[in-house]
Amino acid sequence: MATVLKAAPISQQIVDDLAKQCSLLKKDGCIPCLKVILIGEHAPSVIYTRNKKKFMESIGAECEIIKLAEDVSEENFLNTLKTQAKDKSVHGLFVQLPLPKHLSHIDVGQLVPPEKDVDGFHAQNLYKLMAGDKGENALLPCTPKGVMTMLKHAGVSLEGKSVAVIGRSLIVGKPLSLLMTNYNATVTMCHSKTSNLKQVTKSSDIIVAAIGRAKFINSEFLRSEGDQILIDVGINHDSDGILCGDIDQNDVENKCALITPVPGGVGKMTIVSLGQNLITAATNQLEK
Ligand code: NAD
Repeated sequence: MATVLKAAPISQQIVDDLAKQCSLLKKDGCIPCLKVILIGEHAPSVIYTRNKKKFMESIGAECEIIKLAEDVSEENFLNTLKTQAKDKSVHGLFVQLPLPKHLSHIDVGQLVPPEKDVDGFHAQNLYKLMAGDKGENALLPCTPKGVMTMLKHAGVSLEGKSVAVIGRSLIVGKPLSLLMTNYNATVTMCHSKTSNLKQVTKSSDIIVAAIGRAKFINSEFLRSEGDQILIDVGINHDSDGILCGDIDQNDVENKCALITPVPGGVGKMTIVSLGQNLITAATNQLEK
């Protein structure tokens, strides 16, 4: 039976630590502050931003959700973004995606100043990953950072390990592949056109599924030794409408060494990483 690596005990430890760091920053006159720009009433975005606000407040930081109408003009949207970007009392800033159609051509990741880019998508922050940074004091994309935190907590060293990262998106697969490479893993980044996926996954010590297809990875993708580590990034609903990951957890639970659950795994860590990035951003800005 595999070890199930749950996020809750890990995140609790980090939350306590973040709360302490937050109160130290406050003693130095800096109240860590996150601003989130939310456009329209897209239901999942409303829930995500509400959860982020709740989390930031739980560590003692400030968080304001700036709500703009679905049909906000490009000029008003950009002005709001610029005002927050310039405001010295704002340490972290991001725009909740997706953007409405009439604004979808805007690359918001590049409009947030790199020092406030708590999503970790600014070219300057991504370049650090390209250059080999391990990201300890950097603003890293939140989901990859969460995966790394979980592996570290479980005592999994990446050095010399072979990893199959399935998915090459800018928010998960690509930055995670770079980050794992910077920790001396040998990474194969797989995607929808990979022709020998099962061969790659069977020969990997660690498999990361970031695909967006419910229960896609099953025991057919694993080798028989039962020694592999499976990280499930997916957030999907199965045919019964039940929340599930990209890995068929029931099918693989006796055939791997360690697995992250869905729910209660990587998803929970993403918001924790955002909190870590906010405290890093506030600390860096205070030091400047
Ligand atoms: P995406 O749609 O941008 O990318 C999916 C990737 O999967 C693509 O690179 C594609 O090439 C690859 N892919 C698709 N079909 C494949 C196949 N048959 N074989 C191999 N590769 C295939 O998705 P994303 O934004 O990276 O998200 C992936 C999943 O992770 C989704 O379920 C999403 O909801 C979830 N997600 C979770 C978190 C979290 O906090 N846990 C954060 C972001 C995304």
